[in-house]
Amino acid sequence: MSCQMTQSISLRRLLQLIQKHMMLCPQLSFIWLMVLIGCDGIHSTVARWLGLSEPLNAGRSAGLGLAVFPEGHGLNKEVRLFVDAGMRAGYVPLNDNEIYWFLVCNCSAEGESKARNPELIQKEVLEKYAKVLPPFYSDIVRRSDASTLHWAPLMFRHPWNVFFGNLSKGNVTVVGDAMHPMTPDLGQGGCQALEDAVVLGRHIGNLLIKTKGHIATTGDNNVAQAIDGYVKERKWRVTGMVIGSYLSGWVQNGGSNWWMRFLRDVIFYRFLVGGVLGNKVTGYDCGKLPDVSLGEMDNPCKID
Ligand SMILES: Cc1cc2nc3c(=O)[nH]c(=O)nc-3n(C[C@H](O)[C@H](O)[C@H](O)COP(=O)(O)OP(=O)(O)OC[C@H]3O[C@@H](n4cnc5c(N)ncnc54)[C@H](O)[C@@H]3O)c2cc1C
Repeated sequence: MSCQMTQSISLRRLLQLIQKHMMLCPQLSFIWLMVLIGCDGIHSTVARWLGLSEPLNAGRSAGLGLAVFPEGHGLNKEVRLFVDAGMRAGYVPLNDNEIYWFLVCNCSAEGESKARNPELIQKEVLEKYAKVLPPFYSDIVRRSDASTLHWAPLMFRHPWNVFFGNLSKGNVTVVGDAMHPMTPDLGQGGCQALEDAVVLGRHIGNLLIKTKGHIATTGDNNVAQAIDGYVKERKWRVTGMVIGSYLSGWVQNGGSNWWMRFLRDVIFYRFLVGGVLGNKVTGYDCGKLPDVSLGEMDNPCKID
């Protein structure tokens, strides 16, 4: 069960109901809500209900889009990255006709006004930023499909709030950006959301196997224990990712003087990303999901 079940009831109302049940009658045996998993993104209502802090603006914004070349762009499938003081831009050919491009700049204040205006995004990227980049970059931005143009201020949650905050309360928890919004500088926000889903699924699946489907909201077979296990397992990794992403953005957008170049090109790209940290970030094994067939259980998903 997740926040998808809120189609007929608002998430805020649902949380009010849970709060009321928890306070009035914690041993209530007929609570119909087994688990609430808040996967409601960066401005999560569930995270707010858990008492997590509001996401902060990182002082940078990002634009991105998809350029279409019906006649073919003629590029090799190579990622190109350009860095300048306070700006980083790049593109990735996805196939023979489409190129994904992005731009990250130290420009937080202008984020909101541009977000829903594709023409303005394109105009400003071309006029304000692309001038210092190779002419082909401007060509790519000009060829963008308007429906794919996005602009957003980069947000993150304070890592100590992710680590020490309440990531769950009873049978309620959060996954993905609702738990750990991070800047996109390691390209890990969505990946971490997927890892969350696997780890949470593993903890709940193992509980279902252990209890033969007989899960309770109180006592030994308490689903809150599975959620607690999920939170304990995830918080180290996602806190590290929030910190790592922020530092990665700082070093990559830091400019081109010699020591920033040394930090970025030698320490960050070669030593950290290409060496000691690379495999830890992308090669993480979040375990195997248990094989749970509810049909074989004594009490398929019985709730006490
Ligand atoms: C510029 C940029 C580049 C990025 N690049 C990468 C990358 O390369 N790799 C990567 O892994 N990640 C990347 N990310 C991060 C990634 O996009 C997010 O981490 C990911 O989308 C988070 O997924 P989510 O499901 O947690 O939240 P979301 O994708 O935000 O989904 C939340 C959903 O909840 C819904 N919702 C919100 N409130 C309610 C409510 N009250 N009731 C019901 N539904 C609700 C929303 O409508 C939305 O559909 C990037 C982010 C940005 C901004």
